[in-house]
Amino acid sequence: MKIYKTENVKEDKFLHTKTKEVDLGSFDKEKLRKIIRDMRKTMVEADGIGLAGNQVGLDLRLFVARDNGKFYAVINPKITKTFGHKYETEEGCLSVPGFFGETKRYPEVMLEGQNQSGKKLRFRADGLLAHIFQHEVDHLDGIVYVDHAKNVYEHAKSERLKEKEGKNDEK
Ligand SMILES: [Zn+2]
Repeated sequence: MKIYKTENVKEDKFLHTKTKEVDLGSFDKEKLRKIIRDMRKTMVEADGIGLAGNQVGLDLRLFVARDNGKFYAVINPKITKTFGHKYETEEGCLSVPGFFGETKRYPEVMLEGQNQSGKKLRFRADGLLAHIFQHEVDHLDGIVYVDHAKNVYEHAKSERLKEKEGKNDEK
C-alpha cells in the first residue's frame, strides 16, 4: 500500500480529513481482513509501529499497531479515559518521513474499539503503546502530530538516507 505523505498537497488534505466509522454489520468481512493484512505488511515494511486507515488512502476509522512483539488492529477506536498529566515526548510519523517533533501525550490511556468480528476491545496502555494509540486516534480524527508539535526537526542526513533506502519497497 502507498503511504500518504504530508508533502503531497492532495494526500495532506486527505490526512487532515476525519475518517468515517466502519459499520461492521455491513462491511465485507473478507475485504476488511485483507485491508488489515495489507496495512500490517505496509507498516512492518516501512519499519513503523502504527498505521492509520487514512495514511493508506482509506476513509475508514481503523488502525494497526505493534509494540513488544504484539500486533493490534482496532476498528472504530476511541480514547475513553486518560490517566495522569501530559508530558513532553518525541515522535515521528510515516507520513512525515525524515522528521521528528516534540509533542505532549498522556502517560496512560484507555482505548476502546472493535475487532474484525465486531467484538468489543478494551486496552489500558501506558508507555510507548499509550503514545501510539494517541498518535493513531489523532490521525483518524484528521490530525497529524506536526500540527501540534513544537520544534519539528530533521533527522541527521545520514540517518535519513538510510531510512529512504529501506523504504524503496513501498507500494
Ligand atoms: Zn503517524
